[in-house]
Amino acid sequence: MTQTASDVPSDRWLAADQAALWEAARVVAVCRDPSATTLRLHLPETPVVLPGQYYLVQLAIDAPPGAVQQAYSLSSSPFPSGPEIEITVREVEGGRASPLLTRRVQVDDVLAVRGPFGFLTWTEQDGGPVALIGAGSGVAPLVSIVRYAAARGIETPMTMLCSSRDRTTVLLAEPLEELARRHRWFTLVHTFTRSSHDPAARFHRRIDADMLSDVLGHVHGGLVPHCCYVAGPGDMVLSVRAALGDLGVSDDHVYSEDHA
Ligand SMILES: Cc1cc2nc3c(=O)[nH]c(=O)nc-3n(C[C@H](O)[C@H](O)[C@H](O)COP(=O)(O)OP(=O)(O)OC[C@H]3O[C@@H](n4cnc5c(N)ncnc54)[C@H](O)[C@@H]3O)c2cc1C
Repeated sequence: MTQTASDVPSDRWLAADQAALWEAARVVAVCRDPSATTLRLHLPETPVVLPGQYYLVQLAIDAPPGAVQQAYSLSSSPFPSGPEIEITVREVEGGRASPLLTRRVQVDDVLAVRGPFGFLTWTEQDGGPVALIGAGSGVAPLVSIVRYAAARGIETPMTMLCSSRDRTTVLLAEPLEELARRHRWFTLVHTFTRSSHDPAARFHRRIDADMLSDVLGHVHGGLVPHCCYVAGPGDMVLSVRAALGDLGVSDDHVYSEDHA
């Protein structure tokens, strides 16, 4: 369900900012779905931001020290440029920030943000083919990369291996399916770790070297050279990096981001 409105801005989430480190971003749309909430934020100025980068979001909370800061990746395309960005937040049970962002933040609230930061980025200069390997919230920056390529009309082959517990927890499932339907250069492959027979997924286990080899393909006996982007929980990132290494992918071609 998407909520849009234009009432008076609410500063209820803003904490004291004596050093003026934070920018005030107004929430202009909220889309809550069972797996995550996407917030569209209007920044004071058009940012210089690359696909896959992230922002820090600060929220005032009742518990000491009075504010919490967490990182959230861009899930939208930064092209065409403009003052609005989207972040997609998955709720972490017992967490300080994510339950507020997924359940309580509303249109016209103002959030303190800083950024962009991060090196998990891809543009046409980086070439391809591109392998995007994501789990959980790690899928968000990878979606930003695919949306950017689609928005620019770049047809670099991209394959996304998306690991989720089951079909209900796939982050940005519908937009991903739509991208795969529309663009022949983009291949989407799901693996479900807790749903052993669902035909919506090609695999039903955690990502391993055999799966990567199957998805990314071979040429001359080795893995097809790819720029590899890996994002998700720390243990997943470590094991995928190790599996790519076992398959002969040089560390120089692997960019990763740990969302734990
Ligand atoms: C670069 C980067 C990009 C990211 N991008 C995204 C994104 O696009 N989307 C997204 O959803 N997430 C993203 N994340 C993760 C995000 O930053 C947060 O870590 C996540 O939302 C959890 O924050 P939280 O404040 O809700 O949880 P936290 O409050 O940090 O809690 C995390 C866990 O610790 C437990 N916990 C908290 N306090 C205590 C305590 N005192 N004692 C014991 N246990 C405790 C909680 O129960 C919970 O299980 C990203 C992370 C990084 C590093």
